[in-house]
Amino acid sequence: MRTLFHNAQFWSAGKDIFDGVLIENETIIAVGAKALESQFDESIDLHGAFVTPAFLDGHAHPIFGGREAAGPKINGVNSLDEILAKVDSFARINPDQPWIIGGAYEAAIIEGGDFDAQWLDSVVSDRPVVLHAVDHHTIWVNSKALELASITTATQDPTGGTIARRANGAPKGTLREPNAMALVLNLAPADSIESDVQAISRACSAYLDSGVSAAIDSWVEKDMAQAYLAAAKSGELTIAMNLSFLASPGQWREKIQEFNELRQEFAALPHPDLVKANSIKFLADGALSAGTAALMEPYLDNPASSGIKIWGEDELLDALAAFDMLKFQIHIHAIGDAAVKQGLDAIEAMMRINPRWDRRPVIVHAQLICDEDLPRFKHLGVIANIQPLWCYMDPMNKALILPRIGAQRNDLQYRLRSLIDHGAMIAFGSDWPVTSEIPLRAIAVPVNRLAPGIKDADGWNRAEAITLQESLTFYTKTAAYQMFREHERGSLEVGKKADFIVLEKNLFDIDPSEVSTVAIKALYQNGVRTR
Ligand SMILES: [Zn+2]
Repeated sequence: MRTLFHNAQFWSAGKDIFDGVLIENETIIAVGAKALESQFDESIDLHGAFVTPAFLDGHAHPIFGGREAAGPKINGVNSLDEILAKVDSFARINPDQPWIIGGAYEAAIIEGGDFDAQWLDSVVSDRPVVLHAVDHHTIWVNSKALELASITTATQDPTGGTIARRANGAPKGTLREPNAMALVLNLAPADSIESDVQAISRACSAYLDSGVSAAIDSWVEKDMAQAYLAAAKSGELTIAMNLSFLASPGQWREKIQEFNELRQEFAALPHPDLVKANSIKFLADGALSAGTAALMEPYLDNPASSGIKIWGEDELLDALAAFDMLKFQIHIHAIGDAAVKQGLDAIEAMMRINPRWDRRPVIVHAQLICDEDLPRFKHLGVIANIQPLWCYMDPMNKALILPRIGAQRNDLQYRLRSLIDHGAMIAFGSDWPVTSEIPLRAIAVPVNRLAPGIKDADGWNRAEAITLQESLTFYTKTAAYQMFREHERGSLEVGKKADFIVLEKNLFDIDPSEVSTVAIKALYQNGVRTR
């Protein structure tokens, strides 16, 4: 069965706009004039629409996103009243749900970011409510949750965590960092494999609505891998997925066998390309907003601290070398310039020890990079995975990062243009649910260095701006390369899967500020319309 798609403007990285894509079953067999001249069984008129390859999300946490999507969705809501209204209506629609857990609220809408349990009590007081903040290092809970967790004036802050308090020492309702969050979250119903299969199903659906047909889950532990296996077998996994298993200092050696066995289980599935479980995630540092990203120079607000390196140099090298030897791809979270340097150093040392192979190591976030490290991405073949939606002066940046590191360093975040000038390969990822999974919301942000939808304002450090062409490429072609999926997706070329989205407007004909509002009219996966 041959189908011709025509009367459209097809975009694919590195090519001029063309008309005509001919597919046979799942695969593209001709493009452009050749497609238009060929025989077909069926033709589909796209009425002048703009078509791009489906997006690939090169860094995200779909299970966390899917879990959060089970509760009230408060992403991007800009007022307290609106958040409370959403929680209220969710609670009314779900009267039997024993815990209400949702996210993610923008902490910067309240000065200081200490949210009050009583505000939530005004809409739900009979059962616990937990809302995650967008940093995912903070929760806001109601009084019922505080009561169940027995958090009172007498409760001490746990190590590494804080309980926000009123003037009289009573807990206010905001808990920061995992050890404090756990006081409440450990009491919530545990995520089971069944509930995580549901989370995967919701995540896939959100992705397909957004034009994403492949993503990476870059924080996978054993039970989550089992949920992916179950979802792959039941058909609830409806996008292609790469998995990155979490390796931590002190425990990674014991996990080698487990990750290897899981990888084999995925490879034995009937569609071995549906899930690739070939990547290992390393957290090199924390976050700038929490003062835990590892910096070359100390923090301004705490000159005794340069942040935290989670791994010692020797152990990181040992771990990278061990997993690389087994042909696992390396995926390192590094935000501060010292963490990026540590990651590059470790990758360089690993490459000296281990045999050469097509390894495609990834450093994700790379928010600050020392000048001398810019050329090392290309030299070492390290892919910089960056979050396009973060490339503007957002409220968290202003409220929580700028005061910690000062304007000069703050402005040097997200050096996309510098990386390109130094020959680095960039791929994009959403880091969902930290920020939105929707690529069209994000694509124009690094172009304008402004929030989605904003126009006629001064972009943030425009010297690091990129073109829309580049931005689309990083969410398609290079993301496919990062995910070892370039032979199957990320571009509209002969031999690739017919995975593409049909947009109502040509993104190059409109102001970049309008890109975030363009509607997706259809999504084709393997030649079949699924949206
Ligand atoms: Zn992440």
